[in-house]
Amino acid sequence: MENLADYKEIVEVIQDSGGDLFKRCFQCGLCDAVCPWNRVRDFSMRKIVRQATFGMTEIESEEIWLCTTCGRCPQQCPRDVKQIESGVALRKIATEYGVFPTSVKPIRAISASLVGEGNPLNEARKDRGAWAQGLGVNSFAEGMEYMYFPGCYLSYDPRLKKVAQATAKVLKAAGVEFGILGTAENCCGESIRKTGDEELFKRLARENIKSFIDNGVKKILVSSPHCYHTFKNEYPEFSVHFEVVHMSQLLAELIAEGRLELSGEFAKQVAYHDPCYLGRHNGVYDEPRSVLQSVPGLSFMELADHHKASLCCGGGGGRIWMETPKGERFSDLRLQQALDIGAQVLATACPYCIANFQDSMLTLEAEGAIEIKEITEIVAEAL
Ligand code: SF4
Ligand code: SF4
Repeated sequence: MENLADYKEIVEVIQDSGGDLFKRCFQCGLCDAVCPWNRVRDFSMRKIVRQATFGMTEIESEEIWLCTTCGRCPQQCPRDVKQIESGVALRKIATEYGVFPTSVKPIRAISASLVGEGNPLNEARKDRGAWAQGLGVNSFAEGMEYMYFPGCYLSYDPRLKKVAQATAKVLKAAGVEFGILGTAENCCGESIRKTGDEELFKRLARENIKSFIDNGVKKILVSSPHCYHTFKNEYPEFSVHFEVVHMSQLLAELIAEGRLELSGEFAKQVAYHDPCYLGRHNGVYDEPRSVLQSVPGLSFMELADHHKASLCCGGGGGRIWMETPKGERFSDLRLQQALDIGAQVLATACPYCIANFQDSMLTLEAEGAIEIKEITEIVAEAL
């Protein structure tokens, strides 16, 4: 911690960082009982909170970077310690002092890519709308009903581009009027904020808000629950209010209204994984299930942990960019849960979950036994 002139200063900064949040904790340990980390290794949010109360946090340690912000422990806490905000406050201090343990170092390159190109994947901004080439997708123009915001992973990642393409196909089939911003779209900033880089979050958010307003956007359709969360719950901090719709919600509506006819079949056993930022953080549990249950031939299954108790894939809180050792990846446990109930498909509605589950397919050598699908891809196959 060479930048720290005075250790006393950091103790005070840590004690002040969570406001009175840390002091509320009475060390009941209910948070640790539900934390997914404790299925794979020792980890204690209770201990982190206790150390912070006394300013004793070791900000060089990996510990403060482990929380995936899954939202499970805040549901249990009897003292409303707001563990996610408390944990992010500690990361802000580490970010301010430039103290990053080895597993967190990739964040520096991610930040540079976000600043330079507006995405965390070191891809060129000019290629942001390339996924839509040849699909007859229009640029967004004022007056169109939806501005579709695929987000970074669906714009660039080869596996996830297929989800953006399936989305365009389904929207066209239902006659939904939509357009994209292409190069004028920036990372939403949700995950970099959870790593404690508030300045970069604000910069990305302001750039997006400016291009939404300049282009006359009123209703934003998203595929990522992380974009959903930040546009809906965090961008209002900038005194703007856009209507935000997740694709699972729109699909449920289109099917219910008879605007989307599913004349094909998807005759497989499908288990649904609730993404943390769609389910726990935003209460969207029913729509993805109703969409899957409307698909002809599909047999719906629940996983062992579902709805509010869903098991995090491990990708939130910026963890998608950090290295998690084999044997400690929640997505492996989740994929195993799907295999255990005999599911042929593990379906979800979040790009981070899909990326992590695809990795787990290799780790568990599950190719041939199960597939990973986004719910829009299943709908597109059943058109
Ligand atoms: S939010 Fe989730 S990952 Fe973070 S400490 Fe709580 S239970 Fe653990
Ligand atoms: S659940 Fe809340 S009060 Fe209990 S130990 Fe965790 S942070 Fe403290």
